[in-house]
Amino acid sequence: HLDRIAAVDPAVHAFLHVDAEGALAAARAVDETLAAGRPPASPLAGVPLALKDVFTTEGVPTTCGSKILDGWLPPYDATVTRRLKQAGIVVLGKTNMDEFAMGSSTENSAYGPTRNPWNPERIPGGSGGGSAAALAAFQAPLAIGTDTGGSIRQPGAVTGTVGVKPTYGGVSRYGLVAFSSSLDQGGPCARTVLDAALLHEVIGGHDPLDSTSIDAPVPPVVAAARQGAAGDLSGVRVGVVTELDGEGYQPGVLSAFHAAVEQLRALGAEVVKVSCPHFDYGLSAYYLIAPSECSSNLARFDAMRYGLREGDDGTHSAEEVMTLTREAGFGPEVKRRIMLGTYALSAGYYDAYYGQAQKVRTLIARDFAAAYEKVDVLVSPTTPTTAFRIGEKVDDPLAMYRSDLCTIPANLAGNAAMSVPCGLAEEDGLPVGLQIMAPTMQDHRMYRVAAAYE
Ligand code: GLN
Repeated sequence: HLDRIAAVDPAVHAFLHVDAEGALAAARAVDETLAAGRPPASPLAGVPLALKDVFTTEGVPTTCGSKILDGWLPPYDATVTRRLKQAGIVVLGKTNMDEFAMGSSTENSAYGPTRNPWNPERIPGGSGGGSAAALAAFQAPLAIGTDTGGSIRQPGAVTGTVGVKPTYGGVSRYGLVAFSSSLDQGGPCARTVLDAALLHEVIGGHDPLDSTSIDAPVPPVVAAARQGAAGDLSGVRVGVVTELDGEGYQPGVLSAFHAAVEQLRALGAEVVKVSCPHFDYGLSAYYLIAPSECSSNLARFDAMRYGLREGDDGTHSAEEVMTLTREAGFGPEVKRRIMLGTYALSAGYYDAYYGQAQKVRTLIARDFAAAYEKVDVLVSPTTPTTAFRIGEKVDDPLAMYRSDLCTIPANLAGNAAMSVPCGLAEEDGLPVGLQIMAPTMQDHRMYRVAAAYE
């Protein structure tokens, strides 16, 4: 895999940092364990993985795709990083991403975009475009992403790979650099559903270091993926979300999606239409809540504690150093969101914007709850279009935000959701994703359906 990275990454740019030495040492340790006749630490021991550069890695650069963290070496491992290492998984390096996970194309990385291995003129999705591209370009068989509004699922959809957003609280956020704490969720990325399930069981589960971590066993996702692989979905009720199936979608995305729904029916599932009327307001609510939380979370980048420091030459006050550093260190999308968020949270506007968005969030959660009284899982396309052209939406933030139309509701409700490849769109031959959603801590339901479909 290191050779493959050396050969193709100059063209793909999936990685921000390759840790060849660390990877080889980890691989050697697995070899030694096996040579000594001891059992491997996990079923994935020795398997290489690409880690999104938003998880801290002790002594290994962690930039979050931002200049402001240039040169910072974290003093500790994220819980996800630690669990990967304990399982004998070989971390190859850190993958490219939109700065602080804000974006849908990886074009907001301060270190240049990642290219979609299917077509280098196209985006690999975002914010976790590096992780998805690394899988699609066969640079790694496993990867880790984070999904605040779709950043695991949307890159999975547009690169023809599998991406899972576990239930909120299902995977620890300790050491995951915060963007929007009530939405951020780490999860597995892979080329097959079973691989994703195996990785899910390694990284998932309660962590006392994260107060929002759910204190319950990891849902039985590996067993569900194996059960689903038998290809029988009889007794499973699948709901097609009417609000996410129609106007504004690329025709080839819709036809691939409808073919997938027919396939689920052919596998024995009972398919019904389900209306979730408040999903239409998800995007607006998300783009108030996420910037509000980010404006607060990113206050810690004050030029004193991490990475970059501008103007520290004895002529500037601490406040000026802070301003100069934030001016130089943050990119335009991050600045836009800090401004939107501080505005939405300011006295006099709080109720009208942030408070209202939180009410919408509750209504969306109720839509899900009502739907899951009737069906076991919900399905939709993962994204309204296939991979768009690099540069096409950079100057139009609202067009960029619409990439997350279908993925955001599950984040707002804290439910599980995933994307599996569902063929190619007829007009451009690019991959389409099928989104499968499940109630909180019922992640195994969607794995069963995904493995049967795959
Ligand atoms: N594209 C969305 C945003 O820009 C989602 C990002 C994410 O899930 N991290 O906020």
